[in-house]
Amino acid sequence: MNTFLDDLETMSLPERVSHQDHRLAQMVVLGYERSSRLRKIFDERGLKPSDIVSVKDLSKLPVINREKLVEMEAKEPPYGGLEDPGAPVERIFTSPGPVYEPHLGSDDPLWARAYKAAGFGPGDIVLNAFSYHMVAAGLTFHGGLNKVGATVVPSGASTTNQQVQLIKDLKVTGYTGTPSFLMAIIEKAKELGFDFRKDFRVKRASFAAEPLQPSLRQRFETEFDIDTYQMYGATEVGDVAYECSEKKGWHTCEETIVEIVDPSTGQQVKPGELGEVVVTRLNHIFFLLRFGTGDLSSIVTERCSCGRTSCRLSGIAGRVGDAVKVRGMFVAPSQVKKVTENFPGIAVQLVITRSGHKDILTARIDPKGTGVDTAGLHSRFEKVFQEVCTVRPDRVELVNAGSLPDDAKLLVDEREWK
Ligand SMILES: [Zn+2]
Repeated sequence: MNTFLDDLETMSLPERVSHQDHRLAQMVVLGYERSSRLRKIFDERGLKPSDIVSVKDLSKLPVINREKLVEMEAKEPPYGGLEDPGAPVERIFTSPGPVYEPHLGSDDPLWARAYKAAGFGPGDIVLNAFSYHMVAAGLTFHGGLNKVGATVVPSGASTTNQQVQLIKDLKVTGYTGTPSFLMAIIEKAKELGFDFRKDFRVKRASFAAEPLQPSLRQRFETEFDIDTYQMYGATEVGDVAYECSEKKGWHTCEETIVEIVDPSTGQQVKPGELGEVVVTRLNHIFFLLRFGTGDLSSIVTERCSCGRTSCRLSGIAGRVGDAVKVRGMFVAPSQVKKVTENFPGIAVQLVITRSGHKDILTARIDPKGTGVDTAGLHSRFEKVFQEVCTVRPDRVELVNAGSLPDDAKLLVDEREWK
């Protein structure tokens, strides 16, 4: 079976750059002509469509976050003037806010790349436990599964009892939904006297809408023999990125332009640096350029051994508001946790202070128990820290065992801005 959905996934880097730039320029020309709001955004900045001809040019435009979108749509329902009012729209979805989203048409491979990469295809019978009510989730994930040839059971928000019955009676082979709901279904099956691994055929699961905790992933894979995949997107822009069988980061979708930006300036940051995920979905109906997701991630540019040539996102490191900027780089609580996982038994707190015009990053390490090997801990810690967080700690302090309480904050910003 072919591993890729189409040839776009294996384009060379120059091909990819020109393909995306070309599609972006087309979208901008059309959007300027058809969308009253986009024209206004351009005119206010003295920009013409010919000023945005490449992904790099996008930083001339403002980032629009969800809050801003809600405001725009409330003022000018349904789509804030971001749409082509004459374009045929097959469905309209809503999500809390409210935000109204026109479905971008059935020729868009929405989510199909993710399902293909996860190995779904003809012969699969997939339980789709995403809600079909009003929101985009159920129907768009459904469409993606259909595009790779899978049969879909639209179980949506049915109870765990009903889901178990469907899995059993319909000989379901795969699941898509949130990880916690799959675990709830597995637990219900156990309660009903089934052995999920032996009695059922669910061998594959693609998750979205909720982080997949490594411990839960391990349980699915080892205890229940379910191969798991993560997908990432947002209701306003559709699918954004997905895991391949390598499971080392999420490939960005060919239909989206993904930028990682400094949320305070809207400027793109370098590969490897943490910033806000900003997405532009290439389409000819809804001209939402530079949607700010509020999620933090970084771009991985190394080639992936699966053969796909798109960049990858490193995963989601948290929300923009939770992170602290140190010497121009974001550090998120999730990164501190990741560093700590490399040193069993220790607790870590980062303290950011300021000396003159320089940020000082101090890592306080509490060895907690007595079993921690503190020899060489400093240098090992520094090395792992820099790998995970990109910035280097200025000081690594070993504090007395037990001096960091269990609920201690991971990041403490003591800088005063005068
Ligand atoms: Zn890959």
